[in-house]
Amino acid sequence: MISVRNLKKSFGDHQVLKDVDMDVDEREVVVIIGPSGSGKSTLLRCIGQLETVNEGEIAVNGTVISQHDEHDKYTRADIGMVFQQFNLFPHYTCMENIVLAPTKVKKMPLPEAQELAIELLREVGLEDKASAYPSSLSGGQQQRVAIARALAMKPKMMLFDEPTSALDPEMVGEVLEVMRRLAKEGMTMIVVTHEMGFAREIGDRVIFMDGGQILEQGDPVSLFANPQNPRTQAFLSKVL
Ligand code: ADP
Ligand code: MG
Repeated sequence: MISVRNLKKSFGDHQVLKDVDMDVDEREVVVIIGPSGSGKSTLLRCIGQLETVNEGEIAVNGTVISQHDEHDKYTRADIGMVFQQFNLFPHYTCMENIVLAPTKVKKMPLPEAQELAIELLREVGLEDKASAYPSSLSGGQQQRVAIARALAMKPKMMLFDEPTSALDPEMVGEVLEVMRRLAKEGMTMIVVTHEMGFAREIGDRVIFMDGGQILEQGDPVSLFANPQNPRTQAFLSKVL
């Protein structure tokens, strides 16, 4: 479904992604782990079309979506993204946050978008918060609204960049539960996380990145139990 080939990305003269190749199958859940600064967010942002690339390409279902500069033709790739910071619009209610993109971008009629929003709020366990403002919600609730907002565009795949890293520990579980259910329903997902237990549980495959490269990948059980690359071993010995 997603194919990344020879991807290179620099900021100024700092090369952040050095020749990344990666494939993700439909319905697959791929977890990316690795030290801070290894390029995980940049890779996700390139796939999510938030960054241009310097070399290589990213294709979704055979259509090239990566842009080398702002003038490239832009093909929207039906990818939803959820970040560490929830980025909800503070002056909009939960409902308004969720209907914004479907009505503006997809020209969905408002009543239909509202019906969809209620449905999505129910799915993330927040059906009673439609008219609440983000500031009145806990971090975990805000992140669940952010997930509902991304789902409102009916994406073919979801990218999660450390979705629980900004949360108090007692709120991590409720967000992971929503992601767990999405994965079970067959959503194609790429998840950057430091939650190793969760990675092991929901990941069909785990990718270890360091220094802008994929150094090792495999099924979670073998990769966690028996890492081959010394840098994977060193990283896992610190976080497991
Ligand atoms: P990770 O998510 O694995 O922590 P990032 O992809 O955020 O890593 O960052 C990789 C490197 O790229 C870091 O050295 C970071 O400082 C740099 N970087 C990321 N985004 C930018 C940017 N917009 N401008 C300049 N440097 C950046
Ligand atoms: Mg990051």
